[in-house]
Amino acid sequence: MLSELFINGKWQKPSTPGTIDVFNPCTEEVLHRVAAGGPADVDKAVAAAKAALPGWKKVGGAARGRFLKAIAAKLRERAEELAKLSSRNNGKPLAEARVDMADAAASFDYYAGKAVELEARQNSDVAVPDANYRSQLRLEPAGVAALIVPWNFPLVTTSWKVAPALAAGCTVVLKPSEITPIVELELGRIVADIGLPPGVINIVTGVGTVGAAMTMHPDVAKISFTGSNGVGARVMQAASAGPKSVGLELGGKSPIVVFADADEQLTAELIVGGIFYNAGQMCSATSRLVIEKSAAPRILERVVAMAKNLKHGNSLDPATTMGPLTTKTQYDKVLEYIAKGKALDHRLITGGGKPGGINRGWFLEPTIFVDVPSTSPLWREEIFGPLLCVQTFEREEEAIALANDCDFGLVATIVSSDSEKAQRVADAVEAGHVWINSSQTIFVETSWGGFKASGIGRELGPWGLSAYLEVKHKTTRLQA
Ligand code: NAD
Repeated sequence: MLSELFINGKWQKPSTPGTIDVFNPCTEEVLHRVAAGGPADVDKAVAAAKAALPGWKKVGGAARGRFLKAIAAKLRERAEELAKLSSRNNGKPLAEARVDMADAAASFDYYAGKAVELEARQNSDVAVPDANYRSQLRLEPAGVAALIVPWNFPLVTTSWKVAPALAAGCTVVLKPSEITPIVELELGRIVADIGLPPGVINIVTGVGTVGAAMTMHPDVAKISFTGSNGVGARVMQAASAGPKSVGLELGGKSPIVVFADADEQLTAELIVGGIFYNAGQMCSATSRLVIEKSAAPRILERVVAMAKNLKHGNSLDPATTMGPLTTKTQYDKVLEYIAKGKALDHRLITGGGKPGGINRGWFLEPTIFVDVPSTSPLWREEIFGPLLCVQTFEREEEAIALANDCDFGLVATIVSSDSEKAQRVADAVEAGHVWINSSQTIFVETSWGGFKASGIGRELGPWGLSAYLEVKHKTTRLQA
């Protein structure tokens, strides 16, 4: 099953035989082989989604909500098994994979509620300034949605798209990352188990050509893409031909701004968690530390001690607190940036290579460079790995300017015990989500998405649902 495509409620072989190797990054061994789908499979999947659309729309929000609740319940029932699969495929410590599975279930639960609310709101009156008219609002599904996801948070990014799309009444074609498709394929099993109508969710595994075919398909109305800026630009170009509605969740190079009045232990934890969780492979990694000069030596001492304390190992070993990079490509890319940092004479205060005593797996030490100039590629470019760059500041305005001197604007973290100052700085930073004295905490009720090059549109919360809805007004001239 997990070697086939899930189209129209059935597991099917790809139109052209072929497989993709899926690895365990802790061992570098092939974990599984999945089907290499192609454009002909995309055609079939879109046709199935198109055929299922009228029925799924007609069934109404309350019924859709019940299906979403059932998916959430199955995800919870199978959470431990799915977390293990995800951990083996992505390399993240099991504890982190467990958080992901809870997050995925929470998304389906939340949007189950939103589906019910949506139905209750249909045909609601909109106040107009002329008593001779009545205007009513309907929110209708956008149509077939193409959902394309990356590999760093398997099932999480997917749930942030699938759950609101289904709640809105859209039917979907999902393309998991070719690197971590296993738990996404399990979603096919889950929806078959709960009796979701065939064609409502279709899953096509494959490389970029599958995603490209989805974005160009004339019967796709909405594209939701999470991934790199390079591919995001191609997705947007393809969408222009429709034109299709497009949501883009792209890269980040986010700041963590630390003031000298902050609690030392909390600050060190936030810095370490913000860059070394998931081995730094987070669009929301706070990879630029902007720290008040007077506090830098004592905080960095603590951060280095904590970083050195992270334990590499097999992701399923409960003692492991930092996994490997998920791919060899990513591992090589981070090593290249480390080499660049050394060549540019940036000051390395910890890490910079492979951890000692490990001879298999794409593991890298948590790495920190200090006094990295703003012109450095290490400071400006998304690295997507366990590499932190540090700069100091003396005045609040300087901290804000450093934080905002960036092409991206996904998130920011502000750490200070002065709540007024923290609020002021949070208001001034250019980012879609700002954490104050916290980091990486994402509630499904809040929004997710970025300013500037970090993307277009928002996921999660009511905004996540709106992304899959068309707005329709009915304006009636009342009889005299
Ligand atoms: P990627 O852009 O290489 O791939 C993402 C997905 O797009 C994959 O499924 C891939 O197969 C597919 N794809 C490749 N070529 C395509 C094409 N021409 N048309 C359509 N789809 C195509 O990204 P990645 O390496 O998988 O993920 C890492 C990137 O994702 C980072 O830049 C990271 O910041 C970003 N990301 C962003 C968020 C966010 O919420 N903003 C979340 C996670 C990851």
